[in-house]
Amino acid sequence: MRFSQLFIPTLKDSPTDADVASHKYMIRAGMIRQIAAGIYSVLPLGLRTLRKIENIIREEMNRVGAQEVFLPSVQPAELWKESGRWEFYGKELLRFKDRHEREFCYGPTHEEVITDMVRKEIKSYRQLPVAFYQIQTKFRDEVRPRFGIMRGREFMMKDAYSFHADEASVDKTYDDMAAAYSRIFERCGLEYKKVEADTGSIGGARSHEFHVLADSGEDQIGFCDACEYASNIELAECRPDAPDNGAQTDTPIQEVETPGKKSVEEVSAFLSVKPRQIIKTILFESDQGIIAGLCRGDREINPIKLKNHIGCEWLHPAPEAILSKDESIHCGYVGPVGLKYPIYADLEVPGMANAVAGANKADAHLTGIQANRDLKATQMVDIRLAKEGDPCPKCDSGSLKVKRGIELGHIFVLGKKYSSAMKAQFLDPNGKEQAMVMGCYGIGVGRTAAAAIEQRHDEKGICWPRSIAPFEVILLPANHKDDATREAIEKLYKDLLAQGIDALLDDRPERLGVKFKDSELLGIPVQVVIGPKTLEAGVAEVKIRSTGAVSTPNLSSAPQQIQEILQTL
Ligand code: ATP
Ligand code: MG
Repeated sequence: MRFSQLFIPTLKDSPTDADVASHKYMIRAGMIRQIAAGIYSVLPLGLRTLRKIENIIREEMNRVGAQEVFLPSVQPAELWKESGRWEFYGKELLRFKDRHEREFCYGPTHEEVITDMVRKEIKSYRQLPVAFYQIQTKFRDEVRPRFGIMRGREFMMKDAYSFHADEASVDKTYDDMAAAYSRIFERCGLEYKKVEADTGSIGGARSHEFHVLADSGEDQIGFCDACEYASNIELAECRPDAPDNGAQTDTPIQEVETPGKKSVEEVSAFLSVKPRQIIKTILFESDQGIIAGLCRGDREINPIKLKNHIGCEWLHPAPEAILSKDESIHCGYVGPVGLKYPIYADLEVPGMANAVAGANKADAHLTGIQANRDLKATQMVDIRLAKEGDPCPKCDSGSLKVKRGIELGHIFVLGKKYSSAMKAQFLDPNGKEQAMVMGCYGIGVGRTAAAAIEQRHDEKGICWPRSIAPFEVILLPANHKDDATREAIEKLYKDLLAQGIDALLDDRPERLGVKFKDSELLGIPVQVVIGPKTLEAGVAEVKIRSTGAVSTPNLSSAPQQIQEILQTL
């Protein structure tokens, strides 16, 4: 392609609302433009990258036997009412009515639509398993759209769904999909981690996310420095510490005055006890009412682990306005002894002897609590928030590292959640009707492009991995007015195209300095300069964007050598 014939509106300055590199550079390189919060137009250069990512995804989905479909983005409310998600999905679901006052939504995901298609057409175990995928626009009315197309409201997703006669079959497809995802992210030139994940609002049994590690990531990933263990911190397991208070003592519980001392730090300083001797009691509001979570004073509770243990739909720290309605609650002095709400204690709590906790009375705490003796009605579960340096929950030698990650892909075993609710049934070999077992598998296409930039950029611009770069090679004439230069670079350009290389010739009547700046900003992996000086020496100057390494092959062997360089990228 010729630069002069392409619409690449590059900008010198970053937009003021762009906080992360990918957002800045996608705007500055003329790849995307915003038309409303979280809603973007993709321009020609941006689309070239998105299409390359889509093609990699397509090849890998086809390879594992998934069939491509294209489902409607406008979906009737009835299907969502059947699955129960019309009520549950909340404000992220964009709802509207047609001229007949019938309710619709713009699809944020497609479980309902695909389940409806399959239940109408597939009736026998002989037609299973089957997997479908599509690459399509989703809309989610995100609370905080940001970071450009990384967290948009309208965005491109590859979503796939599989249907099975039994668990063993879904497990096999799940493993195939996981392998396909690994190949996709490798082929996209990304450093990624496959991590254990929460199943969130989609619900289900097995789930993994694929993350690219980057400081701008919105998730936290915990992984072992010695073994393969990696998990979203939302879910990461914790190994309880050995109890450090020694053997149980028979000290009785005593009430002590602690006026105005509410936080762990204040109580620990006031009573001269270590934070780890204090039982931290947090009250949560949930769809099952108020519940209390306990952990050691130097730890934090992970609300998602707590929610999963309880099996409730939602849960968050109870706001004071809710708690103030109950006169028995004294904020800052809540403790497990005598508390009337259900209590869930972290696995380290039972080992606490001579512990301190709130007395459920203003300005007072209890000392001498023996967890084994005094907290009998409590459920003991792993609800601690994992943190950097924790011992690995899976191996004996490693410790946990915590880094930020960008979630690019998410795979789930859904089980029968949708097939039961929507009656997607088949006849088994005994002629008995059974609900299908389902899996679902998503990748954000635009987010993958953005994450690649997060992982590979410098102060001058993007450094695309070759496989998803909008072009593989950019050719710059050092002097566009020089006939010999133009002739030589045209020849090289055509030779590269003839070899199947995706080349961009910057034929604009601009100064070389401008072209260099744009070339670096665009991040094309290989840059080739030809000018009067290189012609005199009979060479081309070839530079690798990511490393800055320069080579000067003879003009005659340049196409061959460029091909070889590309193969190393
Ligand atoms: P997140 O936790 O980031 O909101 P999610 O868990 O809601 O994502 P899924 O429902 O698993 O996302 O969707 C599959 C994939 O779609 C995600 O892994 C991500 O790559 C992409 N995706 C989800 N939401 C957005 C968004 N708002 N903008 C761009 N891509 C998105
Ligand atoms: Mg997810």
